[in-house]
Amino acid sequence: MRIGLLALQGDYAAHGRMLDRLGVAHVLVRRADELDSVDGLIIPGGESTTILKFLEEGDFLHRLRELPGTGKPVFGTCAGTILLAEEVANPPQKSLGLMDITVERNGFGRQLSSGVLQGSCTLVDSPMEMVFIRAPRIRRVGKDVKVLAELEGEPVCVQQGLCLAVTFHPELSDETVLHRHFLSLIPNAKELPALEEAQRV
Ligand code: GLN
Repeated sequence: MRIGLLALQGDYAAHGRMLDRLGVAHVLVRRADELDSVDGLIIPGGESTTILKFLEEGDFLHRLRELPGTGKPVFGTCAGTILLAEEVANPPQKSLGLMDITVERNGFGRQLSSGVLQGSCTLVDSPMEMVFIRAPRIRRVGKDVKVLAELEGEPVCVQQGLCLAVTFHPELSDETVLHRHFLSLIPNAKELPALEEAQRV
């Protein structure tokens, strides 16, 4: 198994360190054809407008949109969530439209947008540390979208089929459960020892 880290801009290296901790191989993806050799993709946090600018070259957007349909899960964190959304506000911008959610960029206002907070996640019993950095806000969740984590009653982690999106930065905390959950979406993921715990939740 090999996970691709979209490495056009943003904190993809922190996701790499998280996957190292889980003993999962990963490669940097900078060209659309590199998607062929991965079993799943992480779209990191960063600046969604910048990532989008690179994605608009060649057929990258088209190839990304095909991933879940070919059994390859996609995990978007922060800017990655903005890119996965069906609709983006503040201001509107192009996206992959892979998840039936509406996301508002920098949706918590300047003062509240960054910080380390405690929220709840259905995958763990105790409160979860959540690192927010100029975070987007999930304003609408479609009927086929599951909410996996909340902060003060608002969704901050959602899943639709093979797409998982989180508005905070799990790669910057010690808790590995969201990465393990993402990996568990990959067909034949059960082979991975690191995932034994994730399978049980
Ligand atoms: N505010 C950024 C954007 O709109 C996202 C911030 C992040 O990924 N930490 O793209």
